[in-house]
Amino acid sequence: MEKLAKEKHEIQILIAEDEEDIAEVTRHFLEQEGYQVDVAYDGLEALDKMNPAIDLVLLDVMLPELDGFEVCRQIRSKTETEEVPIIFLTAKSEDDDQIRGLMLGGDDYLTKPCSMDVLLARVQSALRRSHVSEIKTIELLGITLYPKQYKALLHGENLNLTFTQFQLIYCLVNSPRQIFTRKELLEKIWNDDILTVTDRTVDTHMKNLRDKLGDFSQYIETVWGIGYRFNDLISNSSSQ
Ligand code: CA
Repeated sequence: MEKLAKEKHEIQILIAEDEEDIAEVTRHFLEQEGYQVDVAYDGLEALDKMNPAIDLVLLDVMLPELDGFEVCRQIRSKTETEEVPIIFLTAKSEDDDQIRGLMLGGDDYLTKPCSMDVLLARVQSALRRSHVSEIKTIELLGITLYPKQYKALLHGENLNLTFTQFQLIYCLVNSPRQIFTRKELLEKIWNDDILTVTDRTVDTHMKNLRDKLGDFSQYIETVWGIGYRFNDLISNSSSQ
């Protein structure tokens, strides 16, 4: 799932917690902090409200219908949500060893009651970690993309891409074979400036990008009437 960095007000947190007081206090606090928050009061509702746009889950272990462990397992079993950070919320009486075992996967847990400051620190740290994994270095078919430096190497040579060209290629290559409409690319890459750029702007940047890409440009397909995609499967037919 391709994700560029989000503004704070775009970050969505799902709280799964059956104790209404805790759920409401936590929701209110996180909303005050600027996050978008939704609450589920049992395990089935949590799964129902789970979707790929959610950036973090605060998951009570003891939940009606399905417990937190099962909710976690089901979230992890779906490709589109498998990487979402999950912070377990546990009461002091619950089995610490079992929780610790689950934490090996990189998740976090908090023992209730915890202060909102501690909660916020853990939420921020989990979001930071997941952001780091989102902007991973990509290496395939001879190209290497370093998102932190906006640098692209092709067969070891720096392509000297502009910021916009880099964002275009990173967006496409990060989601192989997914077709991006010009509108989607505009929203992802230009977001706030969207009124000043047009479909033609996308095409112009794409042409300049292709000129710099050399033999790699064969993988960037124009999908007529729709937009663009990175098709890594072309290599099976034409370059061998
Ligand atoms: Ca509970």
